[in-house]
Amino acid sequence: MSTAAFTLDLALPRVVFGAGGLARIAEEAERLGLRRVLVLSTPGQAALGARVADLLGSRAAGVFAGAAMHVPVETVAAATARAARLGADGTVAIGGGSTTGLGKALALQAGLPMVAVPTTYAGSEMTTMWGLTEAGAKRTGRDASVLPKTVVYDAELSLDLPAGTTAASALNAIAHAAEGLYAPDANPLVAAIAEEGVRVFARTLPALADAPRDVALRGDALQGAWLCGIVMGHSTVGVHHKLCHVLGGTLGLPHAETHAVVLPHALAFNAPAVPEALRRIASALGAGDGAPRALVALAGRLGLPTSLRALGMEEADIGRVAEFASKAPYPNPRPVDRDGLVALLRRAWSGEPPAA
Ligand code: NAD
Repeated sequence: MSTAAFTLDLALPRVVFGAGGLARIAEEAERLGLRRVLVLSTPGQAALGARVADLLGSRAAGVFAGAAMHVPVETVAAATARAARLGADGTVAIGGGSTTGLGKALALQAGLPMVAVPTTYAGSEMTTMWGLTEAGAKRTGRDASVLPKTVVYDAELSLDLPAGTTAASALNAIAHAAEGLYAPDANPLVAAIAEEGVRVFARTLPALADAPRDVALRGDALQGAWLCGIVMGHSTVGVHHKLCHVLGGTLGLPHAETHAVVLPHALAFNAPAVPEALRRIASALGAGDGAPRALVALAGRLGLPTSLRALGMEEADIGRVAEFASKAPYPNPRPVDRDGLVALLRRAWSGEPPAA
């Protein structure tokens, strides 16, 4: 891979990393010249939103605590109206991918620069990807304007992140890093970041499961999220993500848990085509037994489901999902056909060990 041709256009926000870093939020807003900041959060994190407004002091214009999953256009319209009424000149989005997503929509449609303060490991704060949901249909795109200007990673804010969300958003991030290692637009820099992101998570997640309020471990996990988020922002995804999107879109299976189940099988499927990438993932996972099996063991250790059956999928849907996913495949190192996907999905459905 080291001599393969590539094009890389790095797009990265300023990062302020460290426990307690939220205390610097007013300074960071000032640095960007923001004077009337609208703070964004979900209803569940409204108290945190209010705390950010307090810290911003005279630079706070108000709080919009209505961020919701998948960025509904109605939510964006309500937040835009609030921003206009308050004369906001920027946002601070504090929360997970849903809140960052609302900040991105306001950056895209209302030109409001954003400071992101992530409290999960979704990694959206490192990407130029945006999404909007209208009448049940999600539109996505890439635009440089949606990248936060500054990201404040403060581990103290994730101490109470529930175990399920912790594990699921981390596995989601690992999936991006793993596919980044064999993406057609892979390059040595992003591959090294991907490997390190997987390494940090593999080392941290089991320890975090035993000590969820350990601030140093939470900091390590945030570093994993940051690294994997960079990969997400700079590489395309393959068969794993295609399958997850079809499983989520057609059967309504839960996004992050689906990632955890499918990833080992998708990597086993690609193993014959990209042995070096699989070797690097296995090494990052500290696995002697190969990356796919190590990922099954990690998901099990974290209490995540290890079969699509456990997520509510019917066996009869395997053919339909394979059909959809093979019709318009994402770029993938091993050619994707219906029969190959049926075999992959059968294993993932029943929870058999991956094929490699
Ligand atoms: P989320 O933002 O939907 O948050 C899930 C729930 O956890 C929310 O109710 C939230 O209030 C709560 N929460 C968040 N942090 C918490 C904390 N520290 N303590 C307690 N509760 C907390 O979930 P997510 O996994 O962060 O994000 C998922 C969304 O992000 C998906 O819609 C996904 O499509 C999107 N995403 C987008 C990108 C991108 O690049 N555009 C990348 C990754 C994910």
